[in-house]
Amino acid sequence: MAFDPQVVHAKYRAERDKRLVAGRTAIRDLNHDEYVAGYRVDPFTAYTAREGITDDPDVVIVGGGIAGLLAGAHLRKAGVRRIRIVDQAGGIGGTWYWNRYPGVMCDVESYQYLPMLEELDYIPSRRYAYGEEIRLHLQAVADRFDLGSDALFHTGVTQAIWDEDAGRWTVHTDRGDVLSCRYYILAAGILNLMKLPAIPGMDEFAGPAFHTARWDYDFTGGSPGQALTNLGDRVVALIGTGASGLQCLPPLAEAAKHVYVFQRTPSAIGVRGNRPTDDSFAEGLQPGWQKARMDNFQSIMLGRPVDEDLTDDGWTRHYAAVQNPPRHKGMSTEEFMRAAEELDFGIMEQHRQRIDELVHKPDVAAALKPYYRYLCKRPCFHDEYFDAFNRDNVTLIDCPAGIERITEQGPVVGGQQYEVDGIVYATGFEAEVTPLPRRIGHNVIGRGGISLAGKWADGAATLFGMTSHGFPNMFVMPAPGQQSVVTVNYTQLAEFGAEFVAGLVAVLEERGVRVFDINPAAEADWIQQIVDTYVDPSAVLSACTPSRLNNEGDPGGIRARDTNFGRGFGDFFAYRELLQGWLASGDLEGLDLT
Ligand code: NAP
Repeated sequence: MAFDPQVVHAKYRAERDKRLVAGRTAIRDLNHDEYVAGYRVDPFTAYTAREGITDDPDVVIVGGGIAGLLAGAHLRKAGVRRIRIVDQAGGIGGTWYWNRYPGVMCDVESYQYLPMLEELDYIPSRRYAYGEEIRLHLQAVADRFDLGSDALFHTGVTQAIWDEDAGRWTVHTDRGDVLSCRYYILAAGILNLMKLPAIPGMDEFAGPAFHTARWDYDFTGGSPGQALTNLGDRVVALIGTGASGLQCLPPLAEAAKHVYVFQRTPSAIGVRGNRPTDDSFAEGLQPGWQKARMDNFQSIMLGRPVDEDLTDDGWTRHYAAVQNPPRHKGMSTEEFMRAAEELDFGIMEQHRQRIDELVHKPDVAAALKPYYRYLCKRPCFHDEYFDAFNRDNVTLIDCPAGIERITEQGPVVGGQQYEVDGIVYATGFEAEVTPLPRRIGHNVIGRGGISLAGKWADGAATLFGMTSHGFPNMFVMPAPGQQSVVTVNYTQLAEFGAEFVAGLVAVLEERGVRVFDINPAAEADWIQQIVDTYVDPSAVLSACTPSRLNNEGDPGGIRARDTNFGRGFGDFFAYRELLQGWLASGDLEGLDLT
């Protein structure tokens, strides 16, 4: 395809429209729907009954993933003694605890994504780490800072209530625990709510069916990183072709009698280029190298000049380029927009050509090609996915409007029944725009009985995206769509958020502050800043194929308050500088202290 805007627009629009169908966004309620409740069960750690405990730690952290662990680690460094992590999982790791599907790997370079490499004196084994290595590393972080021994696993918080007289939070759990703490930290992450589509008839399916975040190794055989040994005579349906689905296809294809891949929208899948870490990698690394590497990556993502691209992958080459198209002097807005679109088109063409090179059957190659602008969906990277479609035991079922229904035998598309022995739902997670109160899944009741859900009903209300008036001594770890910033390498944001929280707690302790709250005027100013810099992306995003990034085709439904500091994905460096300066000044401006 040559770049003819009219032709390209028409093609992209037609592809989008095939997918903008009624019922597209319908999902099952995993918390209240009895049938699908089973999808939440932890297949990795046996649940053991225990008595509820009563305790008064200094800090309770909800979530033992990267953000919660880093908050705990930095608080430990700041001298906090009693920390209790509470998590529904059976162990440490958050998303890396749950996502143990075969082939699971992080798309962000391991040397930046695995936290605290210098403290733990650890160099990841590969450029992009597999999930098990990440999970074990996070366990090592927990061990180093003794965050596991007091943690309450397989435990969900049911309610947290601010106790004005005590100046503490009272946290209740579904195990009957009652924890009284000075500081309450919400670190639920953004991939904690599995999304299970509501496909008519799915409850009738006779075989095992599970989400990628609860992989059923009893059905498939094998274990993370090992061949799947039970699938030789089994036919499997794989629903979903995002980052998770495409990673688990090659191992499934290797092992199963047959795999039907149900694709609603093709992903743009760039080169992965994974490789073992070079022996020479660690040579000459100076103290502070990991932070410097993260900053180098982040600079490129924000379009800032760097001497060298230390990462040099699809994120820095494609994503950063599309995100920051060049604006030459004297260019009109129209010229700029057109040049940006042409650049985007060129990159998408490279992705489409790659498919022609790798997939032997032309009709399959055609169906695998993504037709939308690069940032309409979260880009993916893989080197073995396309080759799986050259196998006789893999069939692509292209279903832009989704799966019609599921019967006792399996999925039905275009009236055709696909008989399968098991179904893998690689259907993702609730989007970043899911409001925090829903994401954390419990009531947080602050001063005067106000609930966080009530206060945030019209959108996030924070100072710095991490604190909220009326919820004293409480922190929310920074996350997308919550008035902080977005970073492709989430670890960088989590690490900074953890440093900030620990830094502030240290200052408060030093000054003998018992309770801090956010001054309403300071909060209102922060919200206003977010709202004032928000640029409604509806015009661009509505031309996109529906995805979680454009609110499934309804970008107008994104609320200005649920966005980021510094417009768009936000400006990490400006945000960090501002918060570091605020903390260093020692004025604690915007806080009301008791
Ligand atoms: P995802 O990107 O949201 O993909 C979900 C897939 O399920 C999409 O292909 C979607 O189609 C499909 N789907 C949903 N409902 C369907 C239905 N009713 N019928 C047919 N298909 C349906 O989820 P994910 O792959 O789990 O990834 C989620 C996020 O997790 C990623 O964006 C990334 O942030 C993170 N992640 C990262 C890695 C990594 O670093 N390697 C790996 C896994 C996950 P549509 O595209 O049409 O919606």
